Amino acid sequence: MEKKKAYYVSDSDGEYGIFVVAESVKHAKRMSWGHECLCNEEYIDLKAKWNKKVKVDDLEYGVQDDFKEGLRRGVFSFLDEGYDCDECESEAFLTKVGDKCLCSDCEDKLDKTEPSEVQKR
Ligand SMILES: [Zn+2]
Repeated sequence: MEKKKAYYVSDSDGEYGIFVVAESVKHAKRMSWGHECLCNEEYIDLKAKWNKKVKVDDLEYGVQDDFKEGLRRGVFSFLDEGYDCDECESEAFLTKVGDKCLCSDCEDKLDKTEPSEVQKR
């Protein structure tokens, strides 16, 4: 059996993308084509990029609709609005902090209690 790989499949500009578990670029593109995030794209314009650092053995093949899981695993570097912060549950622009998806407010709060502050004393 082929090893499962994490792909970031995006439009021709690379601006919008989805997280797909597939065996190959071709496989990833075939499963992504027609997805709501990429519906304006022609099959030929889709780009699939294998992220070798991301382990996806525990996931099923196909488009991963849990975008926060994609952020947690490092397929996305951020999520635009439309998803809830793990801490305050408000809908915001999220980035990955540790193993959580946080909004900028919650990230700032974490910064204030950084361990480096404690170590200085
Ligand atoms: Zn928050």
